[in-house]
Amino acid sequence: MSEEKSLNFIEEIIERDLAEGKHTSITTRFPPEPNGYLHIGHAKSICLNFGLAIKYGGETNLRFDDTNPVTEETEYVESIRNDVKWLGFQWARERYASDYFDTLYTYAEQLIQQGDAYVDDSSPEEIAEQKGTPTQAGQRNRFADRSVEENLQLFRDMRDGKYPDGSRVLRARIDMASPNMILRDPVLYRIKHAHHHRTGDKWCIYPMYDFAHGQSDSIEHITHSICTLEFIPHRDLYNWCIEKLGIFPSRQYEFARLNMTYTVMSKRKLLQLVQEGFVTGWDDPRMPTISGMRRRGYTPESIRNFCERIGVARRENLIDVGLLEFCVREHLNQVALRRMVVFHPLRIVITTMQEGIEWLEGENNPEDANSGTRSIPFTRELLIEQEDFMEVPPKKFFRLAPGQMVRLKHAYIIRCDEVIKDDQGNITELRCSHIPNSKSGEDTSGINVKGTLHWVSQTHAIPIEVRLYDRLFRTEDPANAEGNFLDHIHPDSQQILSNALAEPALANDPADARFQFIRMGYFYGDCDTKTDKPVFNRTVTLKDTWAKEAAKK
Ligand code: ATP
Ligand code: MG
Repeated sequence: MSEEKSLNFIEEIIERDLAEGKHTSITTRFPPEPNGYLHIGHAKSICLNFGLAIKYGGETNLRFDDTNPVTEETEYVESIRNDVKWLGFQWARERYASDYFDTLYTYAEQLIQQGDAYVDDSSPEEIAEQKGTPTQAGQRNRFADRSVEENLQLFRDMRDGKYPDGSRVLRARIDMASPNMILRDPVLYRIKHAHHHRTGDKWCIYPMYDFAHGQSDSIEHITHSICTLEFIPHRDLYNWCIEKLGIFPSRQYEFARLNMTYTVMSKRKLLQLVQEGFVTGWDDPRMPTISGMRRRGYTPESIRNFCERIGVARRENLIDVGLLEFCVREHLNQVALRRMVVFHPLRIVITTMQEGIEWLEGENNPEDANSGTRSIPFTRELLIEQEDFMEVPPKKFFRLAPGQMVRLKHAYIIRCDEVIKDDQGNITELRCSHIPNSKSGEDTSGINVKGTLHWVSQTHAIPIEVRLYDRLFRTEDPANAEGNFLDHIHPDSQQILSNALAEPALANDPADARFQFIRMGYFYGDCDTKTDKPVFNRTVTLKDTWAKEAAKK
């Protein structure tokens, strides 16, 4: 990418603000609601907010938007912290909207004193009905005429627990005829006798999102409050509150949320997948959550790179998951250790080989000159992939067939001389001979073969389990496809091979190493690993076979 990459629209705004002296430095925030695990859409928001602060020498706060006491859980707070750190970012301050409940309460009283807010005893249904429609003005009810004193008293009584849930709300007095429905005397506070994960039972009234978010931004002196497009209609209210309260003028800017093919991206839907057992948990490797992608073997570098490449859009779009996978492959190619693993073994005997072991050398990663080599035992009895042999091959089958030659990776050229079968006619073994002067790196045989196969020594191979994943959904945009999104689940998006066989080097590799199992894909150790049988997740295939498969259908 060129150095002079053009600025995105938020960077343009920031550069203008800095040039005009509106701000001397910038502060952003990432404001998750702790009601689920973060997904790749959140990663986009994290990379954007933290990335801007890094670029312009500012700071980013991590702020938990915990104004709804009912849905939030400490487990989620911890997972969110963990995910942001894993992505490679460090926040300047960790804050909670609930840190500001006292201040927000004072702000509410200030609005009441100014005549800008009132207590309404109407039911939620009545309030909705009186709001009017986009083409028809709403109507204020008699509660809007209460005196400041009465409103103050009622609001304090609400706070002191004198009324049941839903019996009263505090509303801003703005404009019941505004074309922006959100400005039609929005609710600022509601009564909810519920235990809060941080403030316990101190409060039985809780501020609405619109009364908490902007003020929290302002209290933290957030200069650029970046959110997704659905908040555009909230911007007027955001500004109204700041203006009426006379507090620090944070400003809201909106960008298009990230949508990605073959997955869903709302926490509510992801929670449903978990609760109804379609996946094993929030960190199931098929989930678009950060924890799922981490477990699957995606790297923080590749996710950051993906977020950079998709840029900052002002219009909703659907990003091809293939782009994310491309970024993952691109990074893993640089860092993954190459190892040989046979998924469906077929035994071959090299009849021309002596008993005993010849130790061969294989580079750990041809892309990285400093990655070193590992030793690979070559013996008379080897295992290759079943699908690398065909008794009656079609034309251009460059793998093994009777009388045909191939190279064994890092080893010799071999020829298949004889096919051994059992009574039922199943192939049980191939008898092969090797060309002694064809060893990789010192080949003087002059023989050219087109195919190279991976293999393992049967006597040295270690058993492992591999888990192969496919898309979790069969349709491109399950959330917007016909019927329920659950109708579009891929019925077998996980395939478990519990008897794969790996070259012995794998036993000594670091637990957190990234692997390329040669010809089979990129793999990463799973936390289900038991010492006797390591488990590996396929992070991504070597090539984008999906696009080709989809084109055929
Ligand atoms: P969801 O719709 O998945 O439940 P949310 O918007 O309710 O997500 P929050 O915890 O409120 O989740 O989001 C925290 C921040 O992440 C917000 O600023 C939100 O705008 C941003 N965000 C959430 N989803 C996406 C997405 N798909 N793309 C970009 N940013 C997102
Ligand atoms: Mg939200």
